[in-house]
Amino acid sequence: MQQFTEPKERLLLGPGPSNVSPRVIRAMTLPLMGYLDPTFLKVMDEVTELLRQAFRTSNEFTLPVSGTGTSGMEAALVNMLEPGDTAVIGTHGLFGQRLADIAYRCGANVVTVTAEWGKTLDPAAIEQALKDAGQVKLLAVVHVETSTGVVQPLAPLGELAHNHNALFLVDAVTSLGGVDLRVDEWGIDICYSATQKCVGSPPGLSPITLSPRAVEVLRQRQTPVQSFYLDLLQLERYWLTARTYHHTVSMSNIYALREALIIAMEEGLEARYERHQRNADALKAGLATLGMQPLAEKGSQANPLTAALVPNGIDEARVRRSLLEEYGIEIGGGFGPLAGKIWRIGLMGESSKASHVLTLLHALEALLLREGCEISPGSSMAAAHQVLSAK
Ligand SMILES: *Cc1c(COP(=O)(O)O)cnc(C)c1O
Repeated sequence: MQQFTEPKERLLLGPGPSNVSPRVIRAMTLPLMGYLDPTFLKVMDEVTELLRQAFRTSNEFTLPVSGTGTSGMEAALVNMLEPGDTAVIGTHGLFGQRLADIAYRCGANVVTVTAEWGKTLDPAAIEQALKDAGQVKLLAVVHVETSTGVVQPLAPLGELAHNHNALFLVDAVTSLGGVDLRVDEWGIDICYSATQKCVGSPPGLSPITLSPRAVEVLRQRQTPVQSFYLDLLQLERYWLTARTYHHTVSMSNIYALREALIIAMEEGLEARYERHQRNADALKAGLATLGMQPLAEKGSQANPLTAALVPNGIDEARVRRSLLEEYGIEIGGGFGPLAGKIWRIGLMGESSKASHVLTLLHALEALLLREGCEISPGSSMAAAHQVLSAK
């Protein structure tokens, strides 16, 4: 008999996926039902209602798209953009660039507003782009840029978009469930996320919500959406209105998402944001004693993902490999201009735990000592402890 590979238990402290609760795994073993089974339709309604709560929206149009976060990104853009439309897109990291790439493939006239990787987007630069670009269909930005650990303030941008009669589209893949996100209050018209970051469910679904304004724009399209699978008006008919077959959804993933959202609501969104904050603060206090500073400036550091500058002279890939092989801990490296320069440490959803912060610092400290760094043993955990025991 052929030997097949056994997946390993990992402490997932990278840019996603994050660890999930055993309750979520158990939910995935619930019975499969037909996609139009009346009982399953009720489960679907529960999921969409929980998603509205998580997004803090009253948008009727709220559902999970089949596929990972990129499917939500693609669904948002292919549905809202028609060839020749102008899209202003903030790009200050990998995911902003991906938004621009997809918008370009939609045949849109793409105007990018860039910022250095590690910095936030400048609202004045966005305003200028909106002024210069003529009739703009949408402004798109990433809330938490997972490639840099930067959180972008959204409310001012929503106002700018609306002042210029543009829709406001937000990538909330790494923020939903981990960072304060208010779809209605901040004037977000299209917002999508993913299940495997701060929501606490395995990869496989991408929740999306559309404001009534966005739905109106969608209904008035002149050309059919080029993607059948991601056609949001067809998905609306299955998820929210006529209940007609579109494609077979993954029941198991939907059960998992429902359980993860129930867990999130039991904890409370505010408490959840605070937990992400406290653990991120503890991590940063510990990293500082190891000689590592966050890439992002104070005030724009995202709690679910800390991008920390690798100490000079350290082979980042070797340390990261040792973390995985010797300690079973996954963290991420950098992309593009940040390759080899940062570690991306995720404390997302179930993975955002005080004990995990201490475990990681313990392991990192041991590995950095082995690499010859001059650090004082035990100091990082003591620093983290101090933050964790405050309040
Ligand atoms: C992870 C991520 C994505 C892509 O999601 P996948 O699930 O990998 O398809 C998009 N945007 C951001 C900000 C992300 O962190």
